[in-house]
Amino acid sequence: MNLDDVRSDLSQILYTEAQIQARVEELAAQVDEDYAGRDPLLVGILNGAVMMMADLSRALTIHCEMDWMAISSYGSGIASSGVVRILKDMNVSVVDRHVLIVEDIVDTGLTLSYLIENLRSRNPASIEVCAGFRKPEAARNHVHVKYLGFDIPSDFVVGYGLDYAGRYRNLKGLGVLSPSVYS
Ligand code: 5GP
Repeated sequence: MNLDDVRSDLSQILYTEAQIQARVEELAAQVDEDYAGRDPLLVGILNGAVMMMADLSRALTIHCEMDWMAISSYGSGIASSGVVRILKDMNVSVVDRHVLIVEDIVDTGLTLSYLIENLRSRNPASIEVCAGFRKPEAARNHVHVKYLGFDIPSDFVVGYGLDYAGRYRNLKGLGVLSPSVYS
């Protein structure tokens, strides 16, 4: 699905597919360099990180392994409570592995903080984060995202794996969802 296909649902286009691809390739080059000889274990957070994982992993020139976790945040509606429930855990062990969490977007950073603590308690060799997008609140909360695609405004965005009511995940590019869609 192209940005033009749902242009009237978006109040703003933030990034095109080409812009995201170019940035993800830059991130992959950094990961290549930092993890040379260490075969990182990429842990994608379902469902949102599917696109990021697919693009990042394929842009790598080093070997990597991929696994997935699915989580759900307790709490109401759009606000993140930081209380996270694991719906699907990883299949492989993280013990002594170089773990790179691949996340779609960091808003408050509460979900990520929980995940990092949870995975750290399983004794990986190292743990870092790669996220497609980050909102200002996360920057204020000093959540450390080593590999970041883009800093974006705090608006509700869709596309590149991010949904609203299950839709728009397959949208190429990233846009701000118009309030008329959800009001
Ligand atoms: P946090 O715990 O950092 O506040 O929330 C992170 C999660 O909230 C993300 O993994 C994502 O699922 C969801 N989220 C945060 N902001 C947005 C947004 O603008 N659009 C969509 N579709 N999901 C978001």
